[in-house]
Amino acid sequence: MDHFPEHPAGAYSFLKSLSDRHLERDQKRLLATLLDQLDGMVYRCRNDAQWTMEFVSVGCLALTGYSPSDLLLNNRVSYDDITHPEDRERVRAEIQSAIAMRRRFEIEYRILRADGMQRWVFERGSGIYHADGTLEALQGFVDDITERKANEHALRDAENRYRDIVENAAEGIFQTTIEGRYIKGNPALARIYGYDSLAELTAALADIGSQLYVDGRRRAEFIRIIRQCGSVTNFESQVYRKDGTVIWISENAREVRDVSGNPLYYEGTVEDITERKTYERRLAHQATHDTLTGLPNRALFVDRLGQALSLAERNGSQVAVAFLDLDNFKYINDSLGHQTGDEVICTTAQRLQGCLRDSDTVSRLGGDEFVLLLQGLNADNGQVTATLSRILAEVSRPLQAGQHELNMTCSLGISLYPQDGRDVDTLLKHADAAMYQAKHVGRNNFQFFTASLNQRARDRLDLEHSLRQAVEREEFILHYQPKIDLRSGGIVGAESLIRWKGPRGLVPPARFIPVAEETGSIEGIGEWVLESACRQARLWQARGLNPFTVAVNFSPRQFSNSRLPQRVESILQRTGVDPRMIEIEITESCLAQEPDKFISTLTALKSIGLQLSIDDFGTGYSSMAYLKSFPLDRLKVDRTFVRGLSGNPRDQAIFRAILALGHNLGLRVVAEGVETSEQYYFLRDAGCDEVQGYFFSMPVPAADLDLLLEERRSR
Ligand code: C2E
Ligand code: MG
Ligand code: MG
Repeated sequence: MDHFPEHPAGAYSFLKSLSDRHLERDQKRLLATLLDQLDGMVYRCRNDAQWTMEFVSVGCLALTGYSPSDLLLNNRVSYDDITHPEDRERVRAEIQSAIAMRRRFEIEYRILRADGMQRWVFERGSGIYHADGTLEALQGFVDDITERKANEHALRDAENRYRDIVENAAEGIFQTTIEGRYIKGNPALARIYGYDSLAELTAALADIGSQLYVDGRRRAEFIRIIRQCGSVTNFESQVYRKDGTVIWISENAREVRDVSGNPLYYEGTVEDITERKTYERRLAHQATHDTLTGLPNRALFVDRLGQALSLAERNGSQVAVAFLDLDNFKYINDSLGHQTGDEVICTTAQRLQGCLRDSDTVSRLGGDEFVLLLQGLNADNGQVTATLSRILAEVSRPLQAGQHELNMTCSLGISLYPQDGRDVDTLLKHADAAMYQAKHVGRNNFQFFTASLNQRARDRLDLEHSLRQAVEREEFILHYQPKIDLRSGGIVGAESLIRWKGPRGLVPPARFIPVAEETGSIEGIGEWVLESACRQARLWQARGLNPFTVAVNFSPRQFSNSRLPQRVESILQRTGVDPRMIEIEITESCLAQEPDKFISTLTALKSIGLQLSIDDFGTGYSSMAYLKSFPLDRLKVDRTFVRGLSGNPRDQAIFRAILALGHNLGLRVVAEGVETSEQYYFLRDAGCDEVQGYFFSMPVPAADLDLLLEERRSR
């Protein structure tokens, strides 16, 4: 117990010194407690070879496994001993250089614990200096960081491993902006798209949406799905590689957002699935095609027929199903072997394909049975009949199978949608039944399921047949329809129009000209027409009619014959007519086929001295551009534009526009099919050049036209 002083002032200073001492003691106790509770070790040591410890805190035991007394003054072990041999030199060097510069040191190194375990520690310390500046001791703090080190290591390891995965992944990994520019990617991404490096890829593709995808709408679809679901999975598309080749890819991606939920970018993976797609397609092809011929099989045929029927139902068109069976095929197979049989089947398959349009389908049902689908037909069965005749002819051409030359024929049965059935099964059943009928009536022919159609088909074949003989049999005659000049009111020419008096009476040209075109007999007919018209023109020329032109109609097929100009020239010579008297009428459809050939033929005809006019103007080829580049003389405006001229202001306006167009191009404008006086007066007042039509005269025999000419002259 401290002694109590009597003097108040003395008492104060005594009290103060007493409380100071208390305070000091308390602080020391506090410090000791703190030091004891600290994880890690506080130390004070000498700067010698052993790091001789003068003080270590209680934490020494937990840290090193040695008690403080073991370490103090190197009692049992020195701190240098505890320091890992591989780290000793580095630790010493760092501490010495820190002291030299009078700064703190911070070092990480390993120690060896009493139990032999190795631990990572972190040491922070500094020198304590005497007043004269010499070093008195070192003090600091050492803490076990083994766990943190392990974590760091694991993290670095994971990072490396992750980078390896990304770098070496077979899949492309990417980040893109929402707008469609690459931000990051791995080497595989560049490789998949055919670029040498990621940098090249990023520079080349500024807009993924428009540059990468073959279908420009894919990117929008990608974004739409991500917006809706947050991610896309197995998103398959076709894309362009750098070299322009197209591959299939599959993408998996998600949207990355910031804390407030705004989209930042997309990230995901991409895989080249071209091989799989090709394989799938091959499988699909195998499942739907016949292996021998490569033609669609029954399943695919049924599918296409179903689609064709729903289309036909919507647009009111016709569909034909034709069953085809080779005649006596069993004989080939049995006597010449299956190899030969297979060759016959393959050749037949090719020939059938050659007879059809791209929109049609030929399928092999098996054996020698085929079935055909003809689509988009109009109401008359001319097209079907023509196709079937062609097939009969093609199949019966001699064919080479191995060393055998064979003559095959086939029988066909046809059912039509809608009249013979409205569904796949019924149509197939009825076509099959019709095919048996074809076999029954003697093979090498076709039969419609509906009996009356067979009559029509026979009629058409009949027509084709008699048309072929009509020239020889001299069944054609020409009629002439006068053309009136609107300024003078006189007859300035006539159009020759063919008439056929066939075995079954008079047939209008609209009925037989298209058939003659299809079968090719138009060539002979055309020559006959031109020669007859020239001969007649020569007669009118001799009578001194001037000006007077005789117009002759040419159809597209005639016109596409490259020898036409020579033919025409020789006819002109033979008949001795002045070429300027002859006018050739062609329709716009001549042009639609081969524009280049059209121009050269036209120019050749013009150089002979003939006059040229476009017939049925306004009904055909829609481009007006050709008008100015061709050497034409006349525009014959189609009847449909003339019909409404009496009273319909719209039709009048259209006609005036055509008139202006023709005149601006320096052409004479002729109105066809003028039937009434109103039409006549309108045309005259509007400034049309010539007219033709029932208002003046029907097409009549040459002799009747002579009478008309006489009548006019005497007026
Ligand atoms: P196109 O060349 O436009 O001939 C005019 C058609 O209109 C002729 O029909 C004629 O009789 C008819 N027509 C004349 N005036 C009137 C009228 O006022 N009202 C009505 N409703 N019709 C009138 P056609 O003779 O039956 O000939 C039809 C088409 O057949 C011709 O149209 C032409 O494209 C073709 N054609 C006629 N003869 C021949 C020919 O010798 N060779 C070729 N390749 N085609 C020909
Ligand atoms: Mg004509
Ligand atoms: Mg016409």
